[in-house]
Amino acid sequence: MLDMATPIERLAYVGSRNGPRLKRLDIRTIKDLLWHFPTRYEDYSQRTNIGDIKEAGSVVSVQGEITDIKNAFTWKRRLAVTEAMISDGTGWLRVTWFNQPYLERTLAPGIKVSLAGKAALDKKGLYLSNPSYEKLQANLIHTGRLVPVYPETEGVSSKYLRLLIKRALPQIPKLNDPLPQTVKDKFNFSELTTALNQIHFPQNQKEAKFARQRFAFEELLLFQLRALRDRRQLQTLKAPKIDFDKNLVGSFVKSLPFELTTDQRIAAYEILKDLEKSYPMNRLLNGDVGSGKTVVALSAAVQAAAGDYQAVFMAPTEILAKQHFSTVTSLLNSQFSISNFQINIGLLTGSEARQYPTDELTDEKVSKKMMRQKIAKGEIGIVIGTHAVIQKDVNFKNLGLVVIDEQHRFGVEQRMKLVKGQRDANIGKEPRHWDAQSPALLMPHLLSMTATPIPRTLALTIYGDLDVSLIKEKPKGRQEIITKVVAHRKRKEAYKFIEAEIQKGRQVFVICPRIESPAFNSNYSLPTTNYQLSLKKLLWAEVKAVTAEYERLSKETFPHLKVAMLHGQMKPKEKDETMTKFREGHYDLLVSTSVVEVGVDVPNATIMMIESADRFGLAQLHQFRGRVGRGQHQSYCLLFTSSDDSLIGRRLKALEKTNDGFELAETDLKIRGPGEFTGVRQSGIPDLAMTSLTDLDLIKKARLEAKLLLKQDPTLNKYPALLTRLSEMQRLVHFE
Ligand code: ADP
Ligand code: MG
Repeated sequence: MLDMATPIERLAYVGSRNGPRLKRLDIRTIKDLLWHFPTRYEDYSQRTNIGDIKEAGSVVSVQGEITDIKNAFTWKRRLAVTEAMISDGTGWLRVTWFNQPYLERTLAPGIKVSLAGKAALDKKGLYLSNPSYEKLQANLIHTGRLVPVYPETEGVSSKYLRLLIKRALPQIPKLNDPLPQTVKDKFNFSELTTALNQIHFPQNQKEAKFARQRFAFEELLLFQLRALRDRRQLQTLKAPKIDFDKNLVGSFVKSLPFELTTDQRIAAYEILKDLEKSYPMNRLLNGDVGSGKTVVALSAAVQAAAGDYQAVFMAPTEILAKQHFSTVTSLLNSQFSISNFQINIGLLTGSEARQYPTDELTDEKVSKKMMRQKIAKGEIGIVIGTHAVIQKDVNFKNLGLVVIDEQHRFGVEQRMKLVKGQRDANIGKEPRHWDAQSPALLMPHLLSMTATPIPRTLALTIYGDLDVSLIKEKPKGRQEIITKVVAHRKRKEAYKFIEAEIQKGRQVFVICPRIESPAFNSNYSLPTTNYQLSLKKLLWAEVKAVTAEYERLSKETFPHLKVAMLHGQMKPKEKDETMTKFREGHYDLLVSTSVVEVGVDVPNATIMMIESADRFGLAQLHQFRGRVGRGQHQSYCLLFTSSDDSLIGRRLKALEKTNDGFELAETDLKIRGPGEFTGVRQSGIPDLAMTSLTDLDLIKKARLEAKLLLKQDPTLNKYPALLTRLSEMQRLVHFE
């Protein structure tokens, strides 16, 4: 019997050479090996008579006897070509293999074999080129059946994995199945061990599909259970109750230079209602770029500050923090302070601190130390900053609300830091003390904001523990951005157009194509020799691409214009500087990788030009498009394609037709799968569940089942195997 935790090196055929290779696929133990599921199956289950093979290109699965086999060497590269003949009584078929000279001996004449592959045609007629092969036996694994195809890496082929898995399967003990029997009965799911056999070596496609569903369901169920339990746990914590003062919020809204949209009003209401509860809010504000999330969050911050609590806005970059500071200070203008109180606002980033309002005695700029002191004394009602605001030397007197911008999810780490900071600040101040059992510590309410439209299916799964407010509607009078898919041959014309816009004084973003690592895309199998590019290599490849494009544009295409470049390998400070100078109009064109900061306002930029747009998801392209159209000038989004392929053009045309991010996100989810959404990959969702994220039905079932289980047994003690898996998952997520 094999123990699931046994290191993979102990298996026969693994050893010190293949062990490290398998680790590249995250296969360390027997369990990892068995949970390395196929991405698809090659269907060789229909046996063909040799005499019936008529067409090149058809997939054939033949069984017969080798009648002749010998090696030849190509004269140029001394590549071994093994040529064989096989007969099954209905005819003869020629077969060739490359670079496997040992086959001459292992498949000697007289040996019965099973082969599978595609028929090809050359001068001498139909033949099989490089087919899968194995000696004929009762239990075929590489041919003559549905053959699993696995994610591979250099030196680890599907064939090798098949062999390892096939040998391991009969040796495993009866496993503890995390799925409760009632659930399996209800959905007709197989027992764990059976399901493992079925997912690797299914009898037919239906069985394979059902086994996959079972594993996906299990993962989705665990995810939902975790979310529900997290939510419950949150409800046991204490947060400051911040009363919703309708007069106050009303007068704030009235003081704004515009009318709130209905969606903004609803979102603000939902948030303000959450603040009244005695446990911490955990809400995501999801609204397309430009939908006006800041002002919604600000209304909550104003309410918190008015209730003598502090609110903090966290932005991912300095430049965004500064932008928020200027927006917030302008929105909280003098008109609002007629309602007779003053909210002090502070900016605190790694490099500077500012305050608002100022008077005769104080400057806008203050030292960071001074700002920290003011925050600690509670003199600043709304603090705006980067991650600098959660450093341990920043203590709030009375933190009530945390707003995090442009981030899908506030990492567990960061959240703990904030709470800890808050706790440390409170230690020694009498009435409150920290006690893990009954946390008297008040935990701040949390609002995260993102501009990535997230389809409902996804939101339900990855944000199962979050409440979500949606802003779908754009403020009135927003200009529509004109989007055009530009075919390869129209490039010159497009450059002329860009030039003309720049002559009018406008600015242009150029986004360079994403460098794709083939192994990241699990929808198609890879040739054995393909290996996963490391992330580092990938980043450098992008830098190279951006540098090349920068050189080309600044030296050849637009030598008379000012061109700048931005990429992920630049230091944050350099990036900020480049972005600021671009915003201030020092450059005409900014060539960038996809790192171009989310949320940055450059009102004078009117063209977003994207190279090889087909390499990006629609949702991401929509994000880029949102970088323009922020000023009074008509803006454009030009999508260059890498080829004139009309199919590619058609997919991108969806962007010409609609400016609705949610609609595009749904389309994207259908076409490209959930991996394309920022944050999804980091959410800790296992691959299999990930591929099922388009299956709303399965997600709903898992959610319902999770609720039922928790209702029957809130501790889940009746399901020890389920609990074990749950705590494994928890560990995983927390160590991210
Ligand atoms: P995002 O949701 O992308 O963060 P912002 O909050 O930055 O959007 O808002 C974009 C711009 O729209 C800001 O200049 C903001 O003042 C303005 N704005 C917000 N709400 C409205 C509205 N209801 N009507 C008109 N303009 C609005
Ligand atoms: Mg924003």
